[in-house]
Amino acid sequence: MLMSGSLLAVLAILAIVASLLLREYGNATETAVRSANNVVQLIDADVQRNADLYDISLKGMIDAWQQPEVMAISPALRRQVLFDRSTAAPYKGDLVMLDENGAIVADSTSVDPRPDNFSDRASFQFHRSNASLGLKVDGPFKSRWGFKDWCISFSRRIPSPDGQFVGVASASMRLSYFNHLFRGLDVGRSGTINLINAEGILLARQPEGANAKFIGRDFSQQPNFQRILKEINGSFSAVSDFDNERRLYTFSRVGDLPLIVVVAQSRDEVYAVWKRNALLVAGATGLLCLGILWLSSLLGRQLRLRRRAERELAKLASTDGLTGLANRRQLDQALAHEWSRSLRNGQPLSLLMIDVDHFKAFNDRHGHHGGDDALRDVARTLSATTRRPGDLAARYGGEEFMVVLPQTPLEGAAQIAEKIRSAIEALAPHGEDTQPTTVSIGVATRTPNAHATLAMLLADADKALYEAKRLGRNRVALPATPDLSAT
Ligand code: GH3
Ligand code: MG
Ligand code: MG
Repeated sequence: MLMSGSLLAVLAILAIVASLLLREYGNATETAVRSANNVVQLIDADVQRNADLYDISLKGMIDAWQQPEVMAISPALRRQVLFDRSTAAPYKGDLVMLDENGAIVADSTSVDPRPDNFSDRASFQFHRSNASLGLKVDGPFKSRWGFKDWCISFSRRIPSPDGQFVGVASASMRLSYFNHLFRGLDVGRSGTINLINAEGILLARQPEGANAKFIGRDFSQQPNFQRILKEINGSFSAVSDFDNERRLYTFSRVGDLPLIVVVAQSRDEVYAVWKRNALLVAGATGLLCLGILWLSSLLGRQLRLRRRAERELAKLASTDGLTGLANRRQLDQALAHEWSRSLRNGQPLSLLMIDVDHFKAFNDRHGHHGGDDALRDVARTLSATTRRPGDLAARYGGEEFMVVLPQTPLEGAAQIAEKIRSAIEALAPHGEDTQPTTVSIGVATRTPNAHATLAMLLADADKALYEAKRLGRNRVALPATPDLSAT
């Protein structure tokens, strides 16, 4: 009871602590996703703003290109009109106008357009074959001029007044812009910020250094990137395709551009504080639970010992030390109890009063030690003869015994008395004795009623015993005036 109670308490404590830790785990995830989302939104806004600037420039270039007056002015002036100064930031690439064959006809980098042909660029081929006038983002590719590093391009088709393809306005953006942008953002020591295009090509990755070799690589076949490309916006936790570390990925599409920002945080970092607290709480809870169980088992042991001691004490208090039979105390209780029970159910109650014959002389012959042995023999015989539940054999005092026989009429009691007498007589004589030890037994029976008392029953038994002694001992005597109400 105690142990199962404390086990239940321990289970309840464990359940509460586990649910709290789980909630804290959820909070840690939520906080990490929220901060990653903030980073993603920041990048999103900045990239979108820059893309808009490029787009405004492209639209301006196309509008200007379609003005016949612009074509009439000097190339140097035309260059100033066509190309916006806002695109001159160091990480920004060049702006070019291509004719229908892909040749550069106007160039932001020089008054004389570079003698190059971009008809091999995917964006050029797209615009030539596609009537859409929308903004096209393409890349990454390595620029052939200037910084010769990784770029993406923003481009628009230039239509003739009747909608025919007459060329492409294109602006390139150096990917170092993203590194510049990402550098100021904190996603933890082992976290990375990635920009991929819709085809799964990695455009930029922070931190740079070792990651530079991944730029331009196609990750569309990697399971995590496949999931990101499919879901576009969201967050999930998975093992990294790069370094087998478990990471928390948060990602979002940049406006309506075919670009996706992916923030990958190290789970070890995200859950570091939670893990430390969880270990601390789990350890303390474990110790507490062990303590509770230990104390309960100690308490249980003490209670068991106490119960055993109490049982032994109760036994000691109710048994006779020499013979192991019920003692006088228990006998008195049993007599009172059986008397009132018999009074209730109207059944006769019988009593045998047994006294060892010539015991003083026996003691003189064999000493008190021998006398004690003989008393134990008599007690054993009494126990063996009175086996019915409810029967009670007790030591009344000295060499006198009593047997209580509930619901037993006089005849039955006399039979049991005779059985006891003969069984004791049948025991082997003690030591040098030639005669066996014998007992005299007085039998009494009364059916309790308003006129009868327990004292009367005891007096009857005593009188009968006296009679047995008087008639020569080693015999059973019944009351001179048997209880007439007995059946
Ligand atoms: P009777 O046949 O008339 O009963 O003769 P008796 O000698 O048994 O007479 P009595 O009842 O007067 O003597 C009882 C003796 O039993 C007294 C005592 O020496 C002995 N006795 C009583 N209690 C014990 C006991 O616990 N151990 C031993 N060894 N002897 C006891
Ligand atoms: Mg006696
Ligand atoms: Mg005697």
